[in-house]
Amino acid sequence: MTFPYQEFAREKMPALLADLKDLIAIDSVRNMDLATPEYPVGPGPIKALAKFLNIADRDGFQTENIDNYAGIVTFGQGDQELGVAVHVDVVPPDEGWSQDPFTPWVKDGRIFGRGASDNKGPALAAYYALLALKEAGFQPKKKISLIIGTDEETDWVGMKYYLQKRPAPDWVFSTDSSFPIVTGQATNMIPAAATAVVSGENLAKIAAAFPDFLAKNGLTREVAEAVSDNGTGLKISLEGVSAHASVPWEGKNGACVLASFLRAFPFTGRAKNFLDFAGDLELEDYYGEKIRIANADPEMGKSINCPAVFRYQNGEAEAYIKSNIRYSRGTSPEKMCQQLNDKFGAFCQTTFQPYQDFEKPHFVASDDPFVKTLLSVYEKQTGQAGETIISAGANYGRFFKNGVGYGPAFPGSLDTAHAIDESVSLAELEKSLAIYAEAIYELSK
Ligand code: ZN
Ligand code: ZN
Repeated sequence: MTFPYQEFAREKMPALLADLKDLIAIDSVRNMDLATPEYPVGPGPIKALAKFLNIADRDGFQTENIDNYAGIVTFGQGDQELGVAVHVDVVPPDEGWSQDPFTPWVKDGRIFGRGASDNKGPALAAYYALLALKEAGFQPKKKISLIIGTDEETDWVGMKYYLQKRPAPDWVFSTDSSFPIVTGQATNMIPAAATAVVSGENLAKIAAAFPDFLAKNGLTREVAEAVSDNGTGLKISLEGVSAHASVPWEGKNGACVLASFLRAFPFTGRAKNFLDFAGDLELEDYYGEKIRIANADPEMGKSINCPAVFRYQNGEAEAYIKSNIRYSRGTSPEKMCQQLNDKFGAFCQTTFQPYQDFEKPHFVASDDPFVKTLLSVYEKQTGQAGETIISAGANYGRFFKNGVGYGPAFPGSLDTAHAIDESVSLAELEKSLAIYAEAIYELSK
């Protein structure tokens, strides 16, 4: 049996768009200043969660709110469970939008607004895939759970709470990633791809200087584009060279290199501190000499420093760099934290995080039947060859043993997540909806 998935998607788009506008209109930035026992991450994300569950109630689904941490929309039943992970919180909108970020607008086949692409639009694409299958009379042989998180952008407390209360589904795909399929995530790698979205003055100068900088550093990939309608935001990306964290000199850390480019411009305050740390101190500091944690042991050799995860967002309480440090005998995590705090404590705090389960590299084998099914649906609907991707970016998929990222970004699509004037293509949402419907069907028939 087969369903007309593209037709499903076309029919559902008007309703999806209406619901998406309502969801975008809810400012769902996490706000811990307003957190209460009732609203663990502040009221915004919880309002968006309630709205999402309302939509599903309206359409006759069984829903559940797990103590305002997460929500579930359930379809079908069976001994096995397929999870689809989405989130309704958004990152702060920043200055420079051409219109109000929480009053969505449609232009040139795209809908604009904070959360349009990350992750409210794709979340609804997955939801409407379920609805279309339900209305077509499909009865899945598995329990399908659409799991809605409220704090994906920060600490993932929603999903952690969910897993305390519920067994993990047998398979999970997240709609907060890329097609064809992302099967792995690694924090023990040098990040190659790096992106910065810059607003304020000097944008023209920055854009003009970028190509030269790339050429001088032997970097080929160049992306520089204005991302806002009124030209007040600039997004620049570069591609370094990935390598394992134990041999950082074999790669080129994209984040450090990008920061080294930006720090030549007059940034101030926290932005300047962050760029100086990432782009000067951490740049090629393979043995932790510049950051003052160097140590050498006669047998084990030098400690090795690899800054792996970078995040800076205007207006966010925390900016951070997570480093993977392989230390040799003669030092300790406590000692290194002390050294860093002694030297840089005026503007940053260093803490030690053990290499726990959450941080371990995550992989699902590419010949796993779950992965093969998702890839074949993608290939069938797009006519493109499917291949598995390992990414340094995190998505909910990596939270689960058999978890992967599956869309919504297509190869070559414009990625505006976290950017000023965030938007998503309506045609791509429609394509995703059709792919999700067929994938869910194939995995639960
Ligand atoms: Zn996201
Ligand atoms: Zn995000």
